[in-house]
Amino acid sequence: MITTEAAEAEKKEIIRRYRRLLRKAKPFLKDNDAKIIKKAFNVSVEAHKEMRRKSGEPYIYHPIAVAEICVEEIGLGTTSIVSALLHDVVEDTDITLSEIERDFGKKVARIIDGLTKISGVFDTGTSQQAENFRKLLLSLSDDLRVILIKIADRLHNMRTLDSMPRDKQLKIASETIFLYAPLAHRLGLYAIKSELEDLNLKFTDGDAYRDIANKIRQTKASRTRFINHFIHPIQSELDRLGHSFTIKGRPKSIHSIWNKMKRQGVGFEEVYDLFAIRIIIDVPYEIEKEVCWKVYSIVTDYYRPNPDRLRDWISTPKSNGYESLHTTVMSRAGQWVEVQIRTKRMDDIAEKGYAAHWKYKEQGKNKSESGLEEWINTVRDTLDQADANALEFVEDFQGNLFSEEVFVFTPAGELKTLAQGATALDFAFEIHTEIGAHCLGAKVNNKLVPLNYKLKNGDQVEILTSKKQKPSEDWLRFVVTGKAKSKIKDILKEERKQAAIDGRELVERKLKQLKVENFEEAYNKLRAYYDLNSNTELFFRVAKGLIDPKELKTIESLTKKKGPGKGRISDGKTFKKEISRLKGSDQDALLIGEDMDILDYKLAKCCNPIPGDDVFGFVTINEGIKIHRTTCPNAKQLLSTHGSRVVKAKWNSQQEIAFLAGLRIIGTDRVGLMNDVTKVISQDLKVNMRSITIDTEDGIFEGDIKLYVNDTQHLDTLLKRLEKVAGVVNVTRFDQ
Ligand code: MN
Repeated sequence: MITTEAAEAEKKEIIRRYRRLLRKAKPFLKDNDAKIIKKAFNVSVEAHKEMRRKSGEPYIYHPIAVAEICVEEIGLGTTSIVSALLHDVVEDTDITLSEIERDFGKKVARIIDGLTKISGVFDTGTSQQAENFRKLLLSLSDDLRVILIKIADRLHNMRTLDSMPRDKQLKIASETIFLYAPLAHRLGLYAIKSELEDLNLKFTDGDAYRDIANKIRQTKASRTRFINHFIHPIQSELDRLGHSFTIKGRPKSIHSIWNKMKRQGVGFEEVYDLFAIRIIIDVPYEIEKEVCWKVYSIVTDYYRPNPDRLRDWISTPKSNGYESLHTTVMSRAGQWVEVQIRTKRMDDIAEKGYAAHWKYKEQGKNKSESGLEEWINTVRDTLDQADANALEFVEDFQGNLFSEEVFVFTPAGELKTLAQGATALDFAFEIHTEIGAHCLGAKVNNKLVPLNYKLKNGDQVEILTSKKQKPSEDWLRFVVTGKAKSKIKDILKEERKQAAIDGRELVERKLKQLKVENFEEAYNKLRAYYDLNSNTELFFRVAKGLIDPKELKTIESLTKKKGPGKGRISDGKTFKKEISRLKGSDQDALLIGEDMDILDYKLAKCCNPIPGDDVFGFVTINEGIKIHRTTCPNAKQLLSTHGSRVVKAKWNSQQEIAFLAGLRIIGTDRVGLMNDVTKVISQDLKVNMRSITIDTEDGIFEGDIKLYVNDTQHLDTLLKRLEKVAGVVNVTRFDQ
């Protein structure tokens, strides 16, 4: 039981904390602001009056602290203070959202609604957590303040995590490192991001945390000495510039030191860049850049810089708004040290991120659209997609939060920022989904490159498209941006859906012909027969020609006589064995070549085999024996489900007989290219062409040539010769 005195003391403490909040907010307050904040405070105190935190403290300490973080550490204003004070009332007390709207207006109500929707803690890596994260990001498009207040909320919970039970500590800490720290980083909230990471370490590896924290404390005196020595020679030069400045030497965060120790397998003493020296100059916006470079010049007059470690984020700010000039120089103590040169405005943005950035922008101090807003737009785009699987989404997105960036240009000279490792295809999707979906290749600095070309800083990229082009599964292997990944997945899914619809029509038509009445039952049998998990998969295969609808006739006999799956070879090993058996001995082999007049066979249209290819024969119901390549997309299906209908096939001898093959040629267009290509084909190698289709667009040349060759060797020679033609980038065989 709490005594009256204790209750009185608590009341005083609540008021004291509230006044401290007001004091910090004061510089930003206008007209009625203080009144509104007071009203919010009163509502919150009343609503939470019976509630206590796990630590036993009055609950109201928490909303006050969150509001304080919003003001002091993020730089937010009155609407956010009010929302922060009320952030837990709708979820935890009887107050409703409509009451909030009535008393505090629409804006505050919407923010609180957003905050209520993303509450709760879930297990890492579960779809529920992913959904939570998705909701969190969705609130970006509504009001960014929802996320900023949520981060403040999480920061305070992490600061007070001690009183939570161990299992909850771990859950909250892991969610913090998984979602909130990267999000804070992306929003430019460096100080908060570092603290969240440090706190995570404190609760997941307490020994390491305390060890590093102690060592940082113990080395403080020597660090101060080092900094004083370092500054000494340049101090008077800096004074002469005539601007006020401060110099700080801040140690890196515990988490980042721990990371380095772990990654490089070294002890604390061996981490050489434990801290950076920061020179902050207070100058008007107009002369910022000039002065920063003057300071750089002074520093490097006295200390030799490492030319590989110069980073100019003033000319090209990071997409989260970070601006600074970094250099690493050799100190007199024979130790490399990083020097960060920036103005007060830049430092403010670096510490407080988005809100500070916004403040300066409103003052008309920002020259260009910031990368941050572009980023928020990108997030919005990504979220707009229909039914992306939430977990997949988080993986794609999370990858992007941490990544470093690469800066490239459009042909018009516009700067685009992409994740490090992004390819030409990522760039295409960055420009527009349609451009990405039809991307054929790109020109980087006027040279033709393939889709998977990794972009480098400063590349100028022009995308080449073709109406014929469409995304394939392959593309997912070399795109890195979340946007490209999710768009490609969407298109593939859509295509699959459409194919399944077409396939269903084919199957239903066939079933009607066969006078089958119960379709569902037939689907069940078919699924079992082909060993498929869903109807969609069945329809998709039919549409893609992986299952011949004509084969469906056999279901009846299947169900009555043999039963499903009899005599089939299902695993890959057996399949390989089967193939090698087919290719093996010549005994009772079906020879194709000399005997072709005797045996009735046809070459499968799905893979157009030619002599030299590894092949097998397949006995069809109506069309005799069909010859497929073992690499045919249908091969595995045919061999595994109809093993008994497979017959050996072997090219007996090579002869002067022509087989149809297709070649696709891609290259840069130039005068005479066509002529050179056809010359190689018809004059040099004396090959007959059956048809040729050429498409040129934006300087890229795409030709499909069907021609008659004798065998694979013949085709190989042709391929190699064509690849040598100037301008040709790629020649591939296609099967149709
Ligand atoms: Mn809270």
